[in-house]
Amino acid sequence: MANMAHNQALGRGDYAFHRETMRAAMFSSSIVKQATDAARRSLLWSFAGGAAILCVFVGERFLFQEQQTVAIEHALKAQKASGQILLADERLTMSANMAAATGEQRWIDRYEDNIPVIDDAIAEARALAPSDAARRFDEETRVSNDRLVEIERRSFDEVRQGRVAQARGLLDGLPYAQHKQVLSNGTSRFAGAAISAARENLDGVEAHADLMFVLVAAAAIAGAVLLWRGLARHLRRSEAAFLSAEERIRDLAVNDALTGVANRRALREYLSDALDAAQPVMGKLAVLMIDLDHFKTINDRHGHVAGDLVLKEVAQRMLQLLREGQLLSRYDADEFVAVIDYDGSEDVVRRLASRIIERVSMPISFGDLSLQVGASVGVALSPAHGTLDEELLRKADIAVRRAKEEGRGVCRIFDASMDVAVDEKKALREELRAAVKNGELAAYFQPIVNLAENAISGFEILCRWHHPTRGLVPPDTFIPLAEEAGFTNALTMSVLRSACQGARDLPPHMFLALNIAPQQIQDEWLVEKILRVLTEMGMAPGQLEVELTESALVSDLAAAKRVITSLKNVGISVSLDDFGTGYSSLCYLSELPFDKIKIDRSFIRTLSERDQSAKIVNAIVGLGRSLGVPIVAEGVETAADAEFLKDIGCSSAQGYYYAKAMSAAELAGFLKTTTLKVAPAPSDAIAAQIAARARRAGAAAEPAPSVRRA
Ligand code: C2E
Ligand code: CA
Ligand code: CA
Repeated sequence: MANMAHNQALGRGDYAFHRETMRAAMFSSSIVKQATDAARRSLLWSFAGGAAILCVFVGERFLFQEQQTVAIEHALKAQKASGQILLADERLTMSANMAAATGEQRWIDRYEDNIPVIDDAIAEARALAPSDAARRFDEETRVSNDRLVEIERRSFDEVRQGRVAQARGLLDGLPYAQHKQVLSNGTSRFAGAAISAARENLDGVEAHADLMFVLVAAAAIAGAVLLWRGLARHLRRSEAAFLSAEERIRDLAVNDALTGVANRRALREYLSDALDAAQPVMGKLAVLMIDLDHFKTINDRHGHVAGDLVLKEVAQRMLQLLREGQLLSRYDADEFVAVIDYDGSEDVVRRLASRIIERVSMPISFGDLSLQVGASVGVALSPAHGTLDEELLRKADIAVRRAKEEGRGVCRIFDASMDVAVDEKKALREELRAAVKNGELAAYFQPIVNLAENAISGFEILCRWHHPTRGLVPPDTFIPLAEEAGFTNALTMSVLRSACQGARDLPPHMFLALNIAPQQIQDEWLVEKILRVLTEMGMAPGQLEVELTESALVSDLAAAKRVITSLKNVGISVSLDDFGTGYSSLCYLSELPFDKIKIDRSFIRTLSERDQSAKIVNAIVGLGRSLGVPIVAEGVETAADAEFLKDIGCSSAQGYYYAKAMSAAELAGFLKTTTLKVAPAPSDAIAAQIAARARRAGAAAEPAPSVRRA
C-alpha cells in the first residue's frame, strides 16, 4: 500500500533525533570536495602521463628519422667515394696511355693533376668505411697501387726520352694489367663493404627505432593501466562520497536541521500521501499542532543556545511518546505537528495530547539553569474536520490558538464554532483597521488621584471603539487584534490625537497617560511619531506620560531601555504598568528609570479579601518609597481601599471609586462636579504656570517632575 510505503519511508525511525545532522552535512560537503579534488588530481595525472608518453614517442620518431637520414647519407657517400676512386684510376690510366701513344707532355701533366684526386677519394672512402674494411682495402691495394704508379712513371720517363714504343710496352704489359685488376677488385670490394656497412648501420637504426617504439608503446600501455586503476579508485571513492552526501542532503531535505524531526515539507508530503491513500492506517488520522508556551521568553532571557537546547529536548520527549509510523515534525519556530493514526476515539487523542503537555512542561536542565516551557495543543481530525492537508493544518492551528486563549497548557479539539470565531475575528480586524485609519477610535479618560491631596493629578487615556453594529467594543478585544496585525502604532497615534483633542481644556498641571503596546518599542521612530502628534495638537511633551507593561521589557530589554531613555530625553515621563502581573523583576526597576509604578488592579480587587494582597501592596509601596518612585494603585473601587492605600503611603490611586473612564464630552462636566480637588496644590502653582507657558509655546519643555507627580 502506498501509504504504508510512505510510512516506512518517512516513519519515526527516519526522523530520529540526531544532533549531528548539521555537522554531518558540513562533513559530507568536505568529503565531496576531497573526492572532486582527487578526481581532478587523477585527471591531471592522466593528462601529464599522456603528454609525457606523447613527447617520448614524438622525440623517439624524430631521433629515428635523424639517424635514418644520417645512415642513408653515409651509404650514399661511401658509394660515391668508391666510384670516385675507380673514375680517378681510369683517368690516370687513360692519361698514361695517351702519353705513351702521343708522346705529349700535357698527358703527363694531366696525370700528375689527377694523382691528388685519387688520393682524396681514397681518404674519403677510408673515413666513411668501417676500419677493418679500410684496413683490408689498404692491404689489398697499396702494393698494386704503388706498382701501378711506379710503372706509369717509368713509362713517362720512356716518353720523355722519346722511346714511345717502350712506354707502350710497359703499359700493355701483363704486370700493369694484373695490378690494375687487383686495384679494381680491391676498390669494388671496398665500396661493397662500405655500402653494406652503411646499410647495416641503417638496419641497426631501424631495429633500434622499432625496439624504442615497442618500449614506448609498452610504457604507454602500462601508464594507461596504472592511471586507469588510479582513476577508477578515485571514481569509486568519489561515488561513495557523493552517495553519502546525497543521502545526507536527502536527510536534510526532510528533516529539521536543529531537532532532527521531520520538517514542514516532509510533513506536507506525508500528510497528503496519508490522506490520499484510499484507506489510511486504521481509517482515521489526527493532526496535533503543539505550540510551546513561553518559549520566546527563554530565547530572550537566556539566548538562542538555550532556546535551541529546549527545542531539541522537547522534540525528543515528544518523539518518545509516538509509535512507529506516527510522525512528528517541526512546523514553525516553536510549533510542532504530530500526525497519528487513531481508532476514532477522541479520548486516545486527548490522552496523547495531555501526555505531550505533561512531558514538555517538565523542567529542562541547562548548565545551572532549570528551564521550563509549556505546550498548548490544537487537534484536527480526519475525516471529521477535513480530508485535505491544508484544511487539517489550518483547523489544528485554529484549535491551538483557542487553547492559548483559554489559558495555555491545554488541548482543544477543533469544532465548527471556532472557524466562525476566526472568520468573525478576521472581519473585526479589518473593520478596526479602517476605524483606526478614519480616526474613529475615541479616547476616554480616567482620573488618577493624588491620595494625600485628594486631588486629580492626571488622566489615563483609555481607548474605545464605537462600532456601528456591535456597539462599544472594549479595548481588551480589539487591542490584541491590532497587535496581531501589527498596526498598534497607527492605533496609538490615532488615540493620542483624539486624547489631545478631547483634553484641550484640561488644566495644564494635569497629565495624560498613554498606553503603548509591547511591540511598539521595536519602532525606532516611536518617540518622533509621538512628538509629531503632540506638536500638531499643541500639547507639551511634559504633560504626557507613557505607560509600558512588563511584557514589553521582557521581549526586548535593550529596545525598552532605548525607548524609555529617548522619551525621558524629550520630557515625556514613563511609568511601569500592571506591576505584579508579569515577572515583577526588580532588575527592571533598578535598570530602567521609571517615573512611576502602577500596581495591577488584581491586587487591589482582592485587598479586602486576601491578607496576602494587602501584604504585597504594602511591600510594593515600601519598595517605591525606598526607590523614590511614586506608586499608583489601579482598580480602586471602594473608600476603604482608598483609605488603606493612603494610610500605607501609596502616592496615587485610580479606579471606579473615583470615576470610570469617560468620554471627552463627559470630562468637562466631571471636572466641574467632582468633589476631588482640581486646582493645583499651592506648591505646584508656579511649576504649573511654567508648564502652561511651555504648552503655549508648543516646545518640548524639560519636564518638571514635581509638577505633576501624583
Ligand atoms: P490598563 O492599562 O490596565 O487600563 C486600566 C483598565 O482598568 C481599563 O480598562 C480601566 O477601565 C480598568 N479599570 C479602571 N478602574 C477600574 C476599577 O476600579 N475596576 C475595574 N474592574 N477596572 C478598572 P479598559 O479601558 O478596558 O482597558 C483595558 C486595557 O486595554 C488597558 O489596561 C490597556 O492595557 C489596554 N488599553 C486601553 N487603551 C489602550 C490604548 O490606547 N493603547 C493600548 N496599547 N492599550 C490600551
Ligand atoms: Ca495602563
Ligand atoms: Ca494597568
